Amino acid sequence: MEQKSMNQSEEAFPSSSKYDNPELDSICKPSTEPSEAFQAETIIIGGGIIGCAIAFELASRGREVLLLEQSEIASGSSGAAAGMLAADSEDFAHPLIARAARDSRELLHHQKEQLYALTGMEIGLRHTGFITPFRSYSELSRCKDKQNNSSVKNQLWWDRSTVEREAAWLNRDVYGAYYRPLESEVLPVSLTRAYARAAHMMGARIWEGVQDIRLVVNNNGVQGVAAAKREITCKHVIVAAGLHGEQLMSQVGVALPSCPVKGEIAAIRFSAEQAGYRPDRTIYAEDVYVVPKANGEVWIGATSLPGRTDRSVSAHSVQRLLTAAGYWVPGVKEAEFLRAWAGVRPSTPDGLPYIGQCEQVPGLYAAYGHFRNGILLSAITGRWIADMLEGKSAEEMGIEALSPERLNRKGVVL
Ligand SMILES: Cc1cc2nc3c(=O)[nH]c(=O)nc-3n(C[C@H](O)[C@H](O)[C@H](O)COP(=O)(O)OP(=O)(O)OC[C@H]3O[C@@H](n4cnc5c(N)ncnc54)[C@H](O)[C@@H]3O)c2cc1C
Repeated sequence: MEQKSMNQSEEAFPSSSKYDNPELDSICKPSTEPSEAFQAETIIIGGGIIGCAIAFELASRGREVLLLEQSEIASGSSGAAAGMLAADSEDFAHPLIARAARDSRELLHHQKEQLYALTGMEIGLRHTGFITPFRSYSELSRCKDKQNNSSVKNQLWWDRSTVEREAAWLNRDVYGAYYRPLESEVLPVSLTRAYARAAHMMGARIWEGVQDIRLVVNNNGVQGVAAAKREITCKHVIVAAGLHGEQLMSQVGVALPSCPVKGEIAAIRFSAEQAGYRPDRTIYAEDVYVVPKANGEVWIGATSLPGRTDRSVSAHSVQRLLTAAGYWVPGVKEAEFLRAWAGVRPSTPDGLPYIGQCEQVPGLYAAYGHFRNGILLSAITGRWIADMLEGKSAEEMGIEALSPERLNRKGVVL
């Protein structure tokens, strides 16, 4: 393998400090003991990427927002994600999501500047494209058979010599690869915090550590929530609680099931001497992804364990991930192992997120179930929910397929 020049290696190891924000706590930590009766136009429950993106969008439109998080911002699935914006690489459950994913990726690129201008926080957005390599012609044919029309846009074919020229750190035995130049990725915790902080700077209140939230509804619909030993009245409640959305909805008799799918990721680091072996673009292979991050680390993921909600990491999974990554990027074997973690993706019975108002309870909205693409779909979800609160219907926006009522209409047996 070729060694890269020192200049490239220096660029590959930026300081991680600009992605950590020690001031965030003092800005976003709420008074969890409010001393007066509260009201808000809109209450968002959940401080993951989805709740924070919605808070950001609503606050930027001048709406009054209170976000309630039971633990800390980005402590759920959003804190465990790899952060890929894989709009051209993922196999989406519906063509609507494939289109939305591309729009959302574009929106995120615009929001990067806006978030930085408001907060001074970097979100680690890197736009270097993804490589999907193949071992053989038959592996490539299998992939072509699976690809539907919506996923073949925005990709180039690289033969073996192009791969060698463009990605000298990749296994020399590859047959060839697809390169998808528009794909990009972020640091998910940084993005979630930047959304929260920007929303706060535009007037949103963000309270962390608020436990035991109860929805308060009557025959007219949503009245507010009971939390922190008091009732907070509001016009709209948006449940953006990821995997726990189901529990909140069940408090008021709305059945919108969440399906957990656990995933594990390992992080490694290449030393300055190993810089020539470090991937500078994401490998998005069938069996593993290898993502060079803006903080200098390389993240390798991810397992997929349906039905599991624990956050333990098994030795077997780490071994499997490192072996698969080491095949595509041989330098992985010499890199320093940093840590591994697990998170739980919030899925739904049909693989589509619930986005929209619950017909039985006017004023109550669902925004959860984004499964493996919540980071990617965050920006568009914020926009959709804000448009709905301003009176646009799901039909006008062309997103009826995501309606929380869809499972009942289809008669899906839950
Ligand atoms: C290993 C792994 C890799 C992934 N990689 C990617 C990727 O590369 N790209 C991508 O787009 N997506 C990825 N995902 C998926 C992505 O992480 C999720 O789709 C996304 O984070 C969901 O965001 P959320 O805000 O809905 O949920 P969460 O991040 O789980 O946030 C929900 C929040 O609600 C809070 N909450 C729950 N119940 C209550 C309550 N009763 N009261 C108050 N607060 C409550 C929780 O504490 C939590 O903070 C990955 C996920 C995993 C696990």
